Amino acid sequence: MTSTDLSIADPIAVSVYRFPTPGPEADGTLLWDATTAVVVELTAGNERGLGWTYSSPATAEVIGHDLAPILRGRSPFDIPGCRTALQRACRNIGTTAVVAHALSAVDIALWDLKARLLRVPLPVLLGAARAATPVYGSGGFTNLADDELAEQISQWRGAGCEAVKIKIGQDRGGAIDRDLERVALAIELIGDRGRLMVDANGAYTVGRARRVGAELDRRGVVWFEEPVTSDDPHGLDRVRAALRCDVTAGEYICGRYDAAALIDVVDCLQLDVTRCGGYSGFLECAALAAAHGRDVSAHCAPALHAPITAAVPNVRHLEWFIDHARLEPTLVDGAPRVADGVLPPHGARSDRGHGMRISEKAAAYRVSACSDAVKS
Ligand SMILES: [Mg+2]
Repeated sequence: MTSTDLSIADPIAVSVYRFPTPGPEADGTLLWDATTAVVVELTAGNERGLGWTYSSPATAEVIGHDLAPILRGRSPFDIPGCRTALQRACRNIGTTAVVAHALSAVDIALWDLKARLLRVPLPVLLGAARAATPVYGSGGFTNLADDELAEQISQWRGAGCEAVKIKIGQDRGGAIDRDLERVALAIELIGDRGRLMVDANGAYTVGRARRVGAELDRRGVVWFEEPVTSDDPHGLDRVRAALRCDVTAGEYICGRYDAAALIDVVDCLQLDVTRCGGYSGFLECAALAAAHGRDVSAHCAPALHAPITAAVPNVRHLEWFIDHARLEPTLVDGAPRVADGVLPPHGARSDRGHGMRISEKAAAYRVSACSDAVKS
């Protein structure tokens, strides 16, 4: 039997890992050469819950300095109570951006810990709406050579993905001819039975987005993500009103209020469990989307999204993002694997929680580690 009077104890451990990309990677509005994962581990009884987010190393400071003192001594079974206390404690520093990423990592660790204490797999605790979640291949960076793009698409199609997504909006939307050239190439590479999705990462103005969108409609592209910045819901609405393809956004949503602000101007709401409040936030935002007749789509972090996307009825698909798909099997042991175009809700050896543990292989990428107990 499980003792439900257990409480969260020391150490509350926080670590930062930095995974270089094979080379510089670009979308329409950003260039990067590494991905940072901020990891939190919570302990209660003899079990440890693991969560992480992809964010700034500053997230680790927020967890150690602002969240850990609130968590210590609380019941890991009382996730809504923990969330409420943490959000209230962050009032003065704000509950969005880096703080939201910290709250998300902690929420994921809490759900993992609760399932482990109850001795059930997390997909059992969350419940199942489907046996596995369809994924789409994602990457297709704007600075890839054509043969590199072809290699990525071939890899995704070989893994059973019916849909793939490439980046457009090169040079902040200033290279439309090149964008459409790459779209044409991707359509050719995908073949008759595949679907193309594109992501402009907010690179275009409304006028440019509508002109590019008309070409995308003509070529049968099904998904136009962040044609303009998602900070401009009115702009998204103006683009969406002119196009047939789905206009989508939501990857930066920090919680239900952000979701409410976007829900009427997108066809499918994107949610990222490492930003939107963890599994609890994902459930809230997905329910809000369902009440507005919208599907949701999981953004990146496939290993963490696997259990929650299987649990939510209005999930359309999950983004199998190449950077995260590459690093997650190094960061953790027990990550689920894509096969036949779907991701199962957990890895092969998952009898408790989400079934993942920090891998020994990750040590080479760790750039800092601390626990608030050690710091204080
Ligand atoms: Mg995106």
